[in-house]
Amino acid sequence: MSHTIAVDIGGTHIRVALFEPDSVTPIAHQRTRSLGNEPGVYDRLERAIESVWPQDRVRAIGIASPGPLDPHTGTILATPNIPEWQNFPLTSRLFQHFNVPAYLDNDANMAGLAEWQFGAGRGHENIVYLTISTGIGGGVISQGCLLQGFRGMGAELGHMIIDPNGPLCGCGHRGHIESFSSGPSIARYVTEQLNTGQRSSLQGQPNIGAVQIADAARAGDALAISAFERAGYYLGIAVANYLAIFDPSILIFGGGVSQVGELLFKPFEESLRRHTFHPHYLDDLVITKAALGDDAGLLGALALARMKTV
Ligand SMILES: [Zn+2]
Repeated sequence: MSHTIAVDIGGTHIRVALFEPDSVTPIAHQRTRSLGNEPGVYDRLERAIESVWPQDRVRAIGIASPGPLDPHTGTILATPNIPEWQNFPLTSRLFQHFNVPAYLDNDANMAGLAEWQFGAGRGHENIVYLTISTGIGGGVISQGCLLQGFRGMGAELGHMIIDPNGPLCGCGHRGHIESFSSGPSIARYVTEQLNTGQRSSLQGQPNIGAVQIADAARAGDALAISAFERAGYYLGIAVANYLAIFDPSILIFGGGVSQVGELLFKPFEESLRRHTFHPHYLDDLVITKAALGDDAGLLGALALARMKTV
């Protein structure tokens, strides 16, 4: 019986964990700052993996990382937080050093995979997972398979075009769903409205973010409520498109913005119903929150490594 090592590479931290066969509770865990702007991220990653390496055999290393990346070759193409990793052959470097296979995919796909295997999506075979936080990421399970695509760039659900003349997205294009419904996009809308003279309890508050806007909305602030209505409306359009493509039995929402609950999901569900091309898509459709929280990336990396080495 052999162990699996899972790695979650985040913007500020790298997490590494060692798992026994069939267990999802790590027996060793290491958390180190990724310090992406300081050279030597790969060396720090190697040392973190060495620190949890067991006496027993390791079957594989699974890695969740921000993209864009190529899961088929195990190459990080570019990741904003780690400038030294440009076309970086991560899995082959790890294989050379540790002599076990390593597998890589992007963090949103891995969170979706984890929710399928261990979380809110258990028992489903057709899943659309969306994480809504500083950006919007997606993961899709289609007919019991993780959807990766020809180049490994499938399921980039946050960059679906909702309005080609819409706001600027973090990726540089216009009108992607991320540019309407991510946390910073909701905050940008509120700031723009304040600048045009809209009255709101948020006027004059420094550093307005989704959390403050949600608090103001719950206290009855009309601008804050309308900001979530707008985000939910556009999210409903995006998800109506996902239903037409993937026909899932469950929608799973992760990420901090999803925690605001009804403020976002009531207008979302109204918009989804209105924009879905056929009501049959909504029959028995489960809409739920993610179950795994911050562990989703790590557990997805675990699931990927096990899946690839069955
Ligand atoms: Zn985009």
